Amino acid sequence: MTSISGKTDIDWAAFAAALAPIETITEPVLVKKRSRDFFWYSPILNESLRTCFGDLVARPKSAEEMARTLALAYAHDAPIVLRGGGTGNYGQAVPMDGGLIIETTGLNRVHEIGDGYVRAEAGALMADINAALAETGQEMAMFPSTQDIATIGGFVAGGSAGIGSIANGALRDPGNLMALTALQVNADPQLRVFDGAETLHIHHAWGLNGVITDVTLRTVPRRDWVGCMATFDSYEAAYAAGLALAQSGDVAAKLITTVDARICTYFPKLAGHIRTDKHLLVSLVPHEDRAGFSASIKDSGGHVDLMMNAAEREALNLPHEFDISYNHTTLQVLKDDRSATYQQVGCPIPPDPQAIAALRPKLGDDVWMHHEFARVGDEIVTFDLPIIWYSTPDRLAEINATYEANGFPVYDAHTWNVEGGGLKADYTHLAWKKRMDPKGLLNSAKSRFWADVAHLSPDEIEAMGEA
Ligand code: FAD
Repeated sequence: MTSISGKTDIDWAAFAAALAPIETITEPVLVKKRSRDFFWYSPILNESLRTCFGDLVARPKSAEEMARTLALAYAHDAPIVLRGGGTGNYGQAVPMDGGLIIETTGLNRVHEIGDGYVRAEAGALMADINAALAETGQEMAMFPSTQDIATIGGFVAGGSAGIGSIANGALRDPGNLMALTALQVNADPQLRVFDGAETLHIHHAWGLNGVITDVTLRTVPRRDWVGCMATFDSYEAAYAAGLALAQSGDVAAKLITTVDARICTYFPKLAGHIRTDKHLLVSLVPHEDRAGFSASIKDSGGHVDLMMNAAEREALNLPHEFDISYNHTTLQVLKDDRSATYQQVGCPIPPDPQAIAALRPKLGDDVWMHHEFARVGDEIVTFDLPIIWYSTPDRLAEINATYEANGFPVYDAHTWNVEGGGLKADYTHLAWKKRMDPKGLLNSAKSRFWADVAHLSPDEIEAMGEA
């Protein structure tokens, strides 16, 4: 069997035979399909990554099978990329060096649910975890809008925040990620448990420094959620209303999103249900906080267009609130027009509606704002996931520069490096990579600094972060 990637000289047929009875996928079309994630949101990443493929897919169904798979890859010096649901936006799960793709969705058991926590295998879909939790009156403290197809391992390794973050903070905030277990990549992979703050050694490292097999997460009481949509005459008024809602002691929202009126036209099912040509605020609030929501919107000069529970939303055939939030907003536009893309932009803290108002005319008509509200530590933060009508790399750079010059930091969504657009290495992550993956087989192409430190000991790498 020849190499699909063209980048390895391993006998993949023999490799697959040696893995049996662990399930493998060898059919090139299917291997190529599993070599992609949602990098195509970015025309720049699409250009670079669309021809990167793996050579073989393995589907272990237990931690023991995962350990066997890793030991065989170690013996063959095979590059490895872990894949959950493949919903990452930066090509995190693209095998840039070819090699083995390990799909985790066979490790999908929910092991244990207790009061305030859930322990699940890394390949469990978050929607399934939430469904199991619902039976106990709980839900995940936060989860991405991709919960139907994304895994908990992929969220912990590649995600950061989501629905629930306005109430419960980011995944990295103390207490949210309670523990995780990860396998090393060596001749005899052992499980290592990371508790509390130690989980940050592995969290958001894009699967470079350990193979997560299970995760323990904080859960919160499940509420009777009501989807709310309100409209405003100006975008800054919608943003100010979002801020007021986030600060309100009367409304315990788990989602606050604001969307430029022009983006709303890409949700045709909303037509006739929300006021036309108005800027939109979307929220999920507990049933008992509906009056508080209405009062807050009225005080902010807005108009409440919709308040509905899930059954009412379905009866009206309206989009799910999740579909208008986080990167689903971008997806909805992209479904209609592939020339759209997006960016990830931080905002001044504390949030300042006047700064948003001042920035808007400077950005131009090819940038349509969309903000998410979250809590990080004790602070309310917002970030912009604007729709950008892509023309050239230079224009994108100009848009980034405008944001930055006005105090809005850009976390570039158009790079495949785990270090993002910045030049800063995470030496703690890299030290753990050396401890957990001494040969550097795990997704190493995604770190621009790994090659510089791969020859050092873990402690030497860690010390570089203290310099
Ligand atoms: P994958 O894409 O399969 O993997 C992500 C990374 O984790 C890869 O580097 C992979 O190698 C690594 N990985 C996967 N499993 C393991 C494992 N067991 N051990 C070690 N490494 C592993 N993100 C958010 O944070 N919040 C959002 O609200 C959000 N909304 C999104 C909406 C859309 C429409 C899209 C396309 C993306 C969104 N994302 C969001 C990004 C992405 O969906 C999330 O990060 C998601 O949780 C990734 O899960 P996954 O199973 O698809 O991971």
